[in-house]
Amino acid sequence: MKKDENQFETDAIRIQMERSSFLEHSSPIYMTSSFVFEDAEDMRASFAEEKDRTIYSRYANPNSSELIDKVCAMEGAEAGFAFASGMAAVFSTFAALLESGAHILSARRIFGSTHSLFTGVFPKWKISHTYFELEDLDTLEELITPATRVIYAESPTNPGVDLVDLGRLGDFAKKHNLLFIVDNCFATPYLQQPLKFGADLVIHSGTKLMDGQGRVLAGITVGRADLIDKIYRFARISGPALSPFNAWLLSRSLETLAIRIDRHCSNALKLAEYLEKQKQVNWVKYPFLPSHPQFNLARKQMKAGGCVVAFEISGGAEAGKKFFDAIELLSLSANLGDSRSIVTHPASTTHSKLSEEERQASGISPGLVRISVGLEHIDDIIRDISRALDKSC
Ligand SMILES: *Cc1c(COP(=O)(O)O)cnc(C)c1O
Repeated sequence: MKKDENQFETDAIRIQMERSSFLEHSSPIYMTSSFVFEDAEDMRASFAEEKDRTIYSRYANPNSSELIDKVCAMEGAEAGFAFASGMAAVFSTFAALLESGAHILSARRIFGSTHSLFTGVFPKWKISHTYFELEDLDTLEELITPATRVIYAESPTNPGVDLVDLGRLGDFAKKHNLLFIVDNCFATPYLQQPLKFGADLVIHSGTKLMDGQGRVLAGITVGRADLIDKIYRFARISGPALSPFNAWLLSRSLETLAIRIDRHCSNALKLAEYLEKQKQVNWVKYPFLPSHPQFNLARKQMKAGGCVVAFEISGGAEAGKKFFDAIELLSLSANLGDSRSIVTHPASTTHSKLSEEERQASGISPGLVRISVGLEHIDDIIRDISRALDKSC
């Protein structure tokens, strides 16, 4: 819960661990695996959890605790746990909360590795899933079984930037007594706070916009304290904790989240508007373009459209290849949410493990291009893309 009346930007900067005896201004890095006890009684009471005490960095560390406190304030959450990667957060959240035999109801359009977890790993523990289509929320009820425990979604989705009506899923989850878990990585808490729409837990890959400079792998889950306690108990045994150094970097990154995201979003909107006018482009999707089919929903649940723009190049895979080969400034990479703009070809990279059928169902055509718009000057970003589009046909 928000501890104070401060605004988002202020919490992002002012939530800080207790100062040491040096009275340092900026938080130090506690590169230590363990912590010492004052005496025998302190040791006993700490292990008995009679006091809130840092014991061992697999359980908690001042740097990860600072990061968790910040993200909790940003999302309006009661508690959280920080992980070594976004996927460690996704895996541990489900593994901690679900019994063997449980069923997950998930949006079909989810991050590739999460899909691989549902299809390739969880069946080992008899945890099954059913995918629902974002356009088909009316038929959700038909998909729940007596074993369904969780409804799971991402919004905006990767790579098609489609939206899920979070309020509707929140109401549905409450009505059917399901846990509602949202991967909020694409929006960040600055643009969208799923707990307000009824989510019980929010998961982030800190690797993307939260760090925003392509330096660390990190993940975090925040939300209801009773659920986080179960996740904490699972994680302190199984060991996916975030390193103090990465927690420190990420906490520094969050100080500038608001101003970075503002620029990412204004650059992305300008690029989307530019692409809409180009003859080599079949269609463009960006949540805050009035042509986006869910523009009204975007304005209802997001503050701005995020950093990802999707478009389809005319001329399919062949034109796509020429386009990618002609890019000079932007990076050809599979990452996103970096200060450096990135162009990705989902069909041959992030979603190459999907079958042709699964790709079609996820709206990934051979000519689909995903751009993670960075913080370079927008004129330079547009110049590079414009040159590449000219060479694509
Ligand atoms: C990248 C990503 C993840 C996984 O995060 P890692 O830090 O790479 O493990 C999960 N969900 C979404 C939406 C992502 O973009």
